[in-house]
Amino acid sequence: MPLVNGKYRANNKDPRVPANEVPAEVRAKNFEPVDTGYTTEDALEEANRCLDCKKPMCVKGCPVGIDIPTFIRQIREEDFAGGLATIRESNMLPSVCGRVCPQENQCEGNCILNRTGNDPIAIGQLERFLGDMTESVGATPVCKPANGKKVAVVGSGPSGIACAGALAREGFDVTVYEAFQTGGGVLTYGIPEFRLPKAIVKREIDGLKDLGVKFEYDAVVGRLYDGDEFFNDMGYDAMYMAVGAGLPKFLNIPGENLPGVFCANEYLTRVNLMKAMDFPVFDTPIKHGKNVVVFGGGNVAMDAARTALRLGADSVTLAYRRTEKEMPARVAELHHAKEEGVRVMELVSPLEFEAGEDGFVAKVKLERMELGEPDESGRRRPVRVEGSEFELPCDVAVTAIGTNANPFASMAADVDLNKWGYIEADEDGKTSNPKVWAGGDIVTGAATVILAMGAGKQAAASIAKTLLGDDAE
Ligand code: FAD
Ligand code: SF4
Repeated sequence: MPLVNGKYRANNKDPRVPANEVPAEVRAKNFEPVDTGYTTEDALEEANRCLDCKKPMCVKGCPVGIDIPTFIRQIREEDFAGGLATIRESNMLPSVCGRVCPQENQCEGNCILNRTGNDPIAIGQLERFLGDMTESVGATPVCKPANGKKVAVVGSGPSGIACAGALAREGFDVTVYEAFQTGGGVLTYGIPEFRLPKAIVKREIDGLKDLGVKFEYDAVVGRLYDGDEFFNDMGYDAMYMAVGAGLPKFLNIPGENLPGVFCANEYLTRVNLMKAMDFPVFDTPIKHGKNVVVFGGGNVAMDAARTALRLGADSVTLAYRRTEKEMPARVAELHHAKEEGVRVMELVSPLEFEAGEDGFVAKVKLERMELGEPDESGRRRPVRVEGSEFELPCDVAVTAIGTNANPFASMAADVDLNKWGYIEADEDGKTSNPKVWAGGDIVTGAATVILAMGAGKQAAASIAKTLLGDDAE
């Protein structure tokens, strides 16, 4: 790209600057990042493709309404600190969202360049580029003076983090209670290192500690504490429930309890949180399968399949009951998985797992499906094809067919739940209990990082307004 007046000049009809991805055959053997991110030159070139629209549709596509044209303009002007500050007005985790947001359905999906048949601006890459500069250009936000009010945040996933950060900046005394031994929620125990390095999540948690937020780990609310204790004994004025939806759904078919059959939560938690890939340096083991079958078509299934490859599998099959077109996973994740060698088997459903002589799973019996009429989700319903049963050998099977709410923490907070066990909350996160707010996956069901963060921020504003009245901004 030529330098014009000291700036890189790109034509927005040019294709977008490609991601810097490690070749598939190299990256599929390790847990290092798949995409190493834009260089400064890449970012300037890509930022120059932006039309700087008067009515930016990309902003409408972002669930938290980041001022995208302004931060892209600031990149063009090489004002990286300014660009980062612009993003942080709406989104505290740009390094995370730039990597994991489903941009193709959000900001980038709305970019006007799509309508002219050109590549949309790589907004996620540019956001990540600025987010990753936090240590070099980012300033610690200033907190208002302490206002004397205490808030307990339950759960340290993206929703809890967003709420805790926003409250700390308003001068609240905030403590986050987390069941696990470390913070980050799904960002830490679910999404693998090769997609989201844990150092980034740690940096964000450390940033919250710099704002004065306290963290209490190994604190299972509903077992160790209940809502009354928070308010009556510990002096809290409000509570934000952000406990996610981490209860796995099961296939409920014969053989699902055989050794070698995992649910994705367990499989990914063993590797990501407990570092099972480094057993025996770390104490948690994991079965390294040679023929692995993963059931599901979402991000969780992609992460499990790509993790199995990195653990040394010879073959990994992703078995899905619909077709690739209906898969809810991010387009980039499916693309990366296939590049790395994951085989997609469409229109199949498992019937039974069978053990070998050693008692471990040795094969799975499946049946073929075809697509029928659309169901309540709008996707065509998979229908059994009679007499189509067949077998597939496998020594590890992973089920990634969704999650449910784990209601015991919510019950301890004495709030109304809906019939599926999720907390009922309004758009400000207010629940039936006037002292308890809730947001993220425990309200919406399994969703996205940015939606969980948006809910945390919204609830923080509502808590501030309720507890401080006119003193809240
Ligand atoms: P979580 O992130 O689930 O955090 C909840 C926290 O609460 C956890 O740390 C949990 O330990 C803690 N907790 C639970 N119960 C208690 C209790 N009783 N006491 C104390 N603490 C408790 N979204 C995307 O946008 N892009 C992606 O690429 C993507 N990939 C994903 C991959 C995987 C493997 C998974 C599982 C999810 C993925 N998602 C993705 C979804 C996204 O991560 C979630 O929507 C988001 O993390 C929800 O945030 P949350 O804060 O509501 O809950
Ligand atoms: Fe796009 Fe997500 Fe960033 Fe919003 S937060 S601009 S949707 S990548």
